Amino acid sequence: MAYPDTYYARTMTDRKLRPPLRGEAHCDVAVVGGGLAGLTTALQLSRSGLRVAVLEAQVVGFGASGRNGGFVTPGFATGGDTIAARVGKEAARQLHRLSIEGVEFVRHTIEALDISAAKPRDGLVSVLRYDDGDALKAYADQTARDHGYELQYLRREDVRSVLKSARYYQGLRDPKAFHIHPLNYLRSVADEIERLGGSIHESSEVVQCDLSGSQKMLRTREGTLRATRVVLATGGYTGPVFSQLHRAFLPIATYVMISEPAPRLIAQAVATTDAVGDNRRAGDYYRLVDGGNRLLWGGRITTRAASADALARELRREMVGTYPQLAGLKTELAWSGLMSYARHLMPQIGELQPGVWYCTAFGGHGLNTTAIAGKVVAEGILGVSDRYRQFAPFGLSWAGGAAGLAAAQLTYWKLQAQDWWRERHAATKDKVTA
Ligand SMILES: Cc1cc2nc3c(=O)[nH]c(=O)nc-3n(C[C@H](O)[C@H](O)[C@H](O)COP(=O)(O)OP(=O)(O)OC[C@H]3O[C@@H](n4cnc5c(N)ncnc54)[C@H](O)[C@@H]3O)c2cc1C
Repeated sequence: MAYPDTYYARTMTDRKLRPPLRGEAHCDVAVVGGGLAGLTTALQLSRSGLRVAVLEAQVVGFGASGRNGGFVTPGFATGGDTIAARVGKEAARQLHRLSIEGVEFVRHTIEALDISAAKPRDGLVSVLRYDDGDALKAYADQTARDHGYELQYLRREDVRSVLKSARYYQGLRDPKAFHIHPLNYLRSVADEIERLGGSIHESSEVVQCDLSGSQKMLRTREGTLRATRVVLATGGYTGPVFSQLHRAFLPIATYVMISEPAPRLIAQAVATTDAVGDNRRAGDYYRLVDGGNRLLWGGRITTRAASADALARELRREMVGTYPQLAGLKTELAWSGLMSYARHLMPQIGELQPGVWYCTAFGGHGLNTTAIAGKVVAEGILGVSDRYRQFAPFGLSWAGGAAGLAAAQLTYWKLQAQDWWRERHAATKDKVTA
C-alpha cells in the first residue's frame, strides 16, 4: 500500500512500512483505523500499559490525518452558538474547554516526543472578508470572558501589512493555535505506540467482524484479531462493515494544493509565518511551508471527489482572486481527502455496546478534536473518567444517505452565495466611502 501523492508524503521523514496482520492474534484493545483518532487512542492506552493493536487498511495516516491543512486550533466543525442551542450554555463551554485541551495535547505530544519533523509554528490569523471590526472585537471579548482565552484584535491596516490583499478587513490572531506537518506528527506517534509495546498493522483492512460477545473478533484478509475491547476510528473512510457508523456520516471531500518554490513572489502576498484562514463558512486557509519557500493553500468542499486538475484550477482561482500578485505562482501538486461529517457537525464519540467504542466525524476540525477523542475514549476504557459522555447529545443518528449528501451540497452552495453577497456588499460600501 502507498500514500497518495501529497506534499506531506513527499516530505515524510521516515519511509518505514508495517507488516499486515497474519494469522491469529490477541490483544487487550483493538483499534481500527490508523489516523489521528485511532493512533491518539492507541497512544493513551499504551501509555497506561494495555496491549494495543491497530489495524489500518492502507498505511498510517493514509486518510484525512495525513493530508490535511495542518491547522491545530480550538473549536469544532460547528459554532459555539449552535452547540449551546443543543446542549445548553454551560455544557457548550465545557466542550469548548475540551477543544482547547485537544490543542494543548498535540503541543505537549510534540514536545514530549521531540517531534521536530512536525515543524510546529505558532499563530493563526482569522481574517474577515468584509468590514465588521466591532463584531470581531465582541467575539474576542466573549472568548476571553468565557474561557480566559485571549485573541489579539488586528485592525485592517495590521492585517493588510502582512496579508497584502484588498479582500481583507479586520482579523483575530490566536497566538496559541499552531500549524504542523501532520503526517510526520502521526508517524512519530505510531513509533511511540510501538516503542511502548503496541503493534500496528498496515494493509490490514477489517472486512468482517463479530463485536457481540465479550471476546470481539476482527477479520482482515490474512488474519484474525481478538480483543475484549474495540475502538472504531475509521473517519471518512468508514465502510459498511461497521454499519451503525456507516449510516451515520457523510463523506465530504476537501482540497489542498502546494505551490512551486518561489519565496520572493510569495512574500509579496503573504508576509507572515502564521497560518491564515478567512471567515467565510466555506473559506480558504493557507500557510507558508518549506521555510517560506512554498505556499500551501486549501479550501472548497464537494460531496463527490473532483479530479486533481479541476480542483487545482478552483483553488488557484480563489488564490489569485485574493492575491492577484500570485497569478504567476505555479501549482506543483493538488490533492483531496475525505472528511467525516455527522448531520449535527459534531464528533461522534462514545460506547456503542459493551466493549465497543467509536470516535469519528471530526469534520474539517480534526487536529484538536481527534486528540480529545483519543483522550476521553482511553479514559473511558480505563474507567478513570466518563468525559466521553459530554458527546452523548451528538449521537449516531442516520445521516440521510444520498439525500443527505445532496442536502449537504445545497447547504454549501447556499453558504457560498451568502458569503459572496456579504463580500459584495462590503466592496460596494468601500467604493462609496472611498
Ligand atoms: C484536505 C483536508 C484538510 C484538512 N485540514 C484540516 C486542518 O487544517 N485542521 C484540522 O483540524 N482538520 C483538518 N482536516 C480534518 C482532519 O484532517 C480530520 O478531521 C482528521 O484527520 C480525521 O481523523 P480520523 O482519524 O478520524 O480519520 P482518518 O485520518 O481519515 O483515518 C481513518 C483511517 O481509517 C482507515 N480505515 C477505514 N476503514 C478501515 C477498515 N475497515 N479497516 C482498517 N482501517 C480502516 C483508513 O484507511 C484511514 O487511514 C482536514 C481534512 C482534509 C481532508
